[in-house]
Amino acid sequence: MNELCNICFEIIITPSIWRCDTCSAVSCLRCMRQYVRHKVNGGQVTQAQLVCPGVCRQPLTNLEALMAPTLWLKYTRFLTTQLEIQRGTRYCPRPSCGAALQESDEVKTKGKRRVYCHTCQIESCFNCGEPFHSWPLCKDRQFRRYCDRNEVQTCNKCKWPIEKHGGCNHMTCLRCAYEFCWLCQQDWNTHSKVQCLPLAVFHSKNIAFGPTPPVRFVTKSVVATVAAGSAIVVGTAAAGLALTGASVIACVAVFALPPIAVKQQLKKAKLKKMRPLDATAAA
Ligand SMILES: [Zn+2]
Ligand SMILES: [Zn+2]
Ligand SMILES: [Zn+2]
Ligand SMILES: [Zn+2]
Ligand SMILES: [Zn+2]
Ligand SMILES: [Zn+2]
Repeated sequence: MNELCNICFEIIITPSIWRCDTCSAVSCLRCMRQYVRHKVNGGQVTQAQLVCPGVCRQPLTNLEALMAPTLWLKYTRFLTTQLEIQRGTRYCPRPSCGAALQESDEVKTKGKRRVYCHTCQIESCFNCGEPFHSWPLCKDRQFRRYCDRNEVQTCNKCKWPIEKHGGCNHMTCLRCAYEFCWLCQQDWNTHSKVQCLPLAVFHSKNIAFGPTPPVRFVTKSVVATVAAGSAIVVGTAAAGLALTGASVIACVAVFALPPIAVKQQLKKAKLKKMRPLDATAAA
């Protein structure tokens, strides 16, 4: 019985086989252990991520048997952290501390960015991990410059920085497993294609809109006003029955052109920035 491994796609020659209870997919035990190790090291530890490599995509069972003791420890730590983040727990942003913030800390915490930690007894900026600063831009210029020049955004849920290297726009945060659209930042489960482009323009830090946030704000406002104005023109035009066919086409063109131009601009800039993958992008 020549069975094919679901991971390396070779005929299994070893007697050590892993078999799925649900879909009877098989793989070499070695491949399976490697697959699990790769998932855990990439922080993919939830039930939706550690799944059978066969057709059923069901959560893997008996995980401890597939991991070395050190990997198991790593897995349990990742899982605890992810579950706590999903429950709303926040962690001290200082790299040397990282303790879970307690309820008493949250009472002392003055805002989302200003956090007090009982363990190190320091008020830090949640975004950069440095001591709290009232000026909203973090000082870590090198990191900020890197984020500006590369495709880096923060996860909407846990605020962890995520870098995208190519792939599609369906992103999964490796830290808290939140799934979202890279362009418009909507939750992937309730993602609306109609709102995607307008929201993408709103959230975009694309240099095509200007080099700094205030300039981009002005450019985007102009784009939004022109688009809204054109929509009114079309509305009025449609109401006026005296219009000839030719002028209707002209009005539709005025309405359609600004969003199309923006989309092309985004596409151009995106192509320029394409690089290989870091965070998970699933089709
Ligand atoms: Zn194999
Ligand atoms: Zn299966
Ligand atoms: Zn701390
Ligand atoms: Zn900061
Ligand atoms: Zn996240
Ligand atoms: Zn979207």
